[in-house]
Amino acid sequence: MQYLEPHDGRGLKIGALTPHRWVEEMEDPDLLEGFSVLKRAARWVGHYPIRTLGTFGGSIAHGDPSAEWCLLAALLDAEIVAVGPGGERVIPVSDFFHGFFMTALEPDEMIVEVRFLQPAPNAALQEFARRAGDYAIVAAAVTLDMNDGKCRSARVVLGGVADVPLRLTEAERVLEGAEVGREAFEEAGREAAKVVDPPSDVQGTAEYRRDLSAVMVRRALEEAAGDVG
Ligand SMILES: Cc1cc2nc3c(=O)[nH]c(=O)nc-3n(C[C@H](O)[C@H](O)[C@H](O)COP(=O)(O)OP(=O)(O)OC[C@H]3O[C@@H](n4cnc5c(N)ncnc54)[C@H](O)[C@@H]3O)c2cc1C
Repeated sequence: MQYLEPHDGRGLKIGALTPHRWVEEMEDPDLLEGFSVLKRAARWVGHYPIRTLGTFGGSIAHGDPSAEWCLLAALLDAEIVAVGPGGERVIPVSDFFHGFFMTALEPDEMIVEVRFLQPAPNAALQEFARRAGDYAIVAAAVTLDMNDGKCRSARVVLGGVADVPLRLTEAERVLEGAEVGREAFEEAGREAAKVVDPPSDVQGTAEYRRDLSAVMVRRALEEAAGDVG
């Protein structure tokens, strides 16, 4: 269960026991085509020793709503493949995260594979934590579909603002049809900040998280717009 391999033509499948570090070291151009966001996001996962030991499947099963792989799974509509006494089942990510550290997995099931079906050549993840290696206080993951300087469609997912990775269709609508650039990205960030209802805790107040949401969304969109694969 340690592999990163092409899946069904255009997709990518990752074995549950694949260490985070393998994702960070992904070099195969066939794998990177459309999924370089995973490689770029890997540096945000904990510290180097954590990335060498922690696993892709473990992170998804843990279900932390600010974990990078949980956010990217939600962003890219991943499928989670679980195996238990009843056999194998494929769980769409939209049904997988139920709340803080709560998932659709049954107690006797384990994740064996995570599948990313559609490439996302213009995608990015940006996050903020007080100390390098900490879980993000707020993280934003985005994809952009652009044509001729305009945004055809976008997807925006935030971590650290709710009990699951949170898709923000309101911010996505701001981007649809807009000129690609800072103005639209800032507006999408402001919309994200308006819509979220984050918790306050020792890491930061709700107001701080709202401010961070605006900045992280804008930064992620800027990175995605400049990303050519
Ligand atoms: C200081 C520190 C900082 C960290 N920072 C980050 C961070 O910024 N971002 C981030 O994403 N993570 C972070 N982590 C967590 C780290 O990424 C782990 O890799 C992650 O929690 C998974 O670890 P693991 O694979 O060893 O699984 P474990 O920790 O062993 O397991 C986690 C949970 O999932 C279950 N589980 C594990 N594998 C499976 C499976 N295949 N199927 C079903 N259930 C399974 C276990 O039973 C357990 O309940 C951090 C950890 C530390 C200690």
